Amino acid sequence: MVTLQEVQFMPPIYLDHAATTPLDRRVREAMEPYLTDVFGNPSSIHRQGQQARMAVDGSRETVAWMLGAAATEIVFTGGGTEADNAAIYGVAWANRDRGRHIVTSAIEHEAVLEASAYLESQHDFEVSRVMPGSEGIVSVADIEAALRPDTVLVSVMYANNEIGTIQPVGDIGLLCRSRGVLFHVDAVQAVGTIPVDVGRDTIDLLSLSAHKFYGPKGVGALYVRSGIHWWPSQLGGGQERRRRSGTENVAGIVGMAKALSLACESMDETSTRIVELRNHLIEAACSAVPEIGLNGDPDRRLPGNANLRFPGVQGESMVTALDTLGIMVSTGSACASGSVEPSHVLRALGDSNAEARSAVRVTIGRQNTREEVDSAVRSIVEVYRRLRDSGVARPGMLQPVAASR
Ligand code: PLP
Repeated sequence: MVTLQEVQFMPPIYLDHAATTPLDRRVREAMEPYLTDVFGNPSSIHRQGQQARMAVDGSRETVAWMLGAAATEIVFTGGGTEADNAAIYGVAWANRDRGRHIVTSAIEHEAVLEASAYLESQHDFEVSRVMPGSEGIVSVADIEAALRPDTVLVSVMYANNEIGTIQPVGDIGLLCRSRGVLFHVDAVQAVGTIPVDVGRDTIDLLSLSAHKFYGPKGVGALYVRSGIHWWPSQLGGGQERRRRSGTENVAGIVGMAKALSLACESMDETSTRIVELRNHLIEAACSAVPEIGLNGDPDRRLPGNANLRFPGVQGESMVTALDTLGIMVSTGSACASGSVEPSHVLRALGDSNAEARSAVRVTIGRQNTREEVDSAVRSIVEVYRRLRDSGVARPGMLQPVAASR
């Protein structure tokens, strides 16, 4: 065993990549000229402005190419939440005379859940929230059963941010197209991690966010299929072809495009390596303590996601105790952690409140090594045993577990 003092000098292990990823050095280098030398407003007609305009338009081409879209279908936003809100409000306002019914799933991110709940409580919309199966997958048949003649939008996420399960978006897309219903996909956790193609998956609107794939925070995009009935929510100077007013975040947009092309370039190789690490982590933790289990489908999940349950112990206590040992994990979505509310995702899978509070989300990223995963597993197992046996969360009592680095 090492002492607490020694632990402070150990490099920390970051295993919370679903919350956010570090900025890739190559992305920062690509952004730098647009923070200093090329500072013009892309709407200005002088050369400074035009250089910035070229950078924004070039980035738009890149992002569109990576998604199988046309450049004119990409609207840059201030992140995933804005893209989700813009998709939902934009379809709702533009189609409200046709119908006021929205279908979504019970395990969506708050950006989708809250926007649709707002339409329901303030604007006479009705929202059907389809429950997933116990493995965290939404069935196409259940989506179909929820459709009504007045349904104007279906919004189902590509991959879940807490348990990492991948939804059958291609089949849902076909269903929606055949019924003339618009289909929005929150692909914030999927883009840059698994292959996403708006044409193959028959998607009408898709949200993404740069900070989930080693790009900068506060920048994202909404894909809006050409010709669909959708209205912008943010009005003003008419930027983004009048679809999202506001001076463009030039450096952020350049960084997002660079980050996305880097992520797509090495996607196969990165994901094979990360899947191996994740499977090793799950296997090692579950075989060390048989009570530890995996939440969500074991196969149809994002490469780096291991959402583990620790019966009898609060996830928050595990996260806090692990942090004192330099291991950074989470209980679920970044927005929900810090609150004592049980995860709405795990509740929808059928967990009791206590079960839904006992989860820890470990999300592996590009830089993690086998040694780090081994070290994290040892700490996770040790912390769990101690918390479970003591019956309360007392991280001060914990003896750090030596990391083999
Ligand atoms: N949707 C999902 C599935 C997410 O995981 C997140 C962020 O965690 C968001 C939307 C919100 O994205 P942003 O942080 O860029 O606002």
